[in-house]
Amino acid sequence: MNIEKLEAFLQKHNQPKFRLQQIQKAVFQESVSSFSEISTLNKDMRKNLEQEMKILSFEVEKVLASKDEKSMKALLKLKDENLIEAVLISPLDGVWSACVSSQVGCPLACEFCSTGKMGFIRNLAAEEITDQILFWNQQLKTKKEKVSNIVYMGMGEPFLNWEEVRKSLADLIDEKKFNFASRSISVSTSGIPEGIEKLSQEFPQVNLALSLHFGSEARRSQIMPINRKNNLEALRQALKKYLAVTKRKIFLEYVMLSGVNDSMDDADDLIRFVKSVEKLQLMHVNLIRYNSTESRFHSSSKERTLKFKEYLASHNLGVTIRKSLGEEIQGACGQLAAKK
Ligand code: SAH
Ligand code: SF4
Repeated sequence: MNIEKLEAFLQKHNQPKFRLQQIQKAVFQESVSSFSEISTLNKDMRKNLEQEMKILSFEVEKVLASKDEKSMKALLKLKDENLIEAVLISPLDGVWSACVSSQVGCPLACEFCSTGKMGFIRNLAAEEITDQILFWNQQLKTKKEKVSNIVYMGMGEPFLNWEEVRKSLADLIDEKKFNFASRSISVSTSGIPEGIEKLSQEFPQVNLALSLHFGSEARRSQIMPINRKNNLEALRQALKKYLAVTKRKIFLEYVMLSGVNDSMDDADDLIRFVKSVEKLQLMHVNLIRYNSTESRFHSSSKERTLKFKEYLASHNLGVTIRKSLGEEIQGACGQLAAKK
């Protein structure tokens, strides 16, 4: 919801200051989906709000849920008709993790990612990012539950839209708005050093995930074009700086691509990179299953992934195989391509 617009609305209708807090509380904390539900306001006020304001900055085109109802995906139509996707996943009972988009499409064209194939269309405004959370909270209201974690792992590269992403983060942790703890939020990047630095300075308690995927410069550059500009050497420096400021663990994402980055030599490259950054305790590797997209890649087998994991663990790296939820609804990482 656009707060500046709401403020202008309240001024126009000569409303006292406390009205803003009343409405914010109802929208952000009580997850109302319509102004008519705000019982602390009189009838006229509710009617005017309904006519002149909107809670969400998009229309909901479609909502899909997996059979077990542990994952949901929504197709959202923005005011300019562009489509984005938002995903909600429940890794544990009562825990809901929202995966938000920060751009329509993405300019970085990683070869294994569907969003990358769309190209870049535009940046999302802060409101369009945080409204994805409002929307899921509205959906969860019947269960009396709420989003508990947020990951910036939907469509787009958050650090290429820093101004709006920064505003969205500020709203998420604002106690008068969403009131999330910084530690329940993670921002994922394919590796933009300036963004990593800004996150450490402005939001040192927000988690950083780096989509590393390769420990070798040549391989990474071949499949993730961003590495031709910001290579592993540049990322190493950025991560060292990040750790010096935040002293917080960094999550390294590693998508398992059969025959491409899943050999023991690839594991050695990864170990070398991680060791060259800092103390091993401050880094954690998440092995991700490759979710099929229209690309030339295939997912590594379970056995291969396990072997890779054990090899990393035997070199004292913290490593987890991340459960992939949402594939059934094409809502898993890298499958977001906003098709009707
Ligand atoms: N642009 C940011 C955030 C969005 S992508 C980034 O790249 O980090 C979210 C995560 O999904 C990243 O770790 C990305 O590498 C991963 N991903 C992309 N395509 C994938 C696929 N087909 N299967 C599994 N993970 C994928
Ligand atoms: Fe963009 Fe991330 Fe997809 Fe790469 S993986 S194309 S950076 S959204």
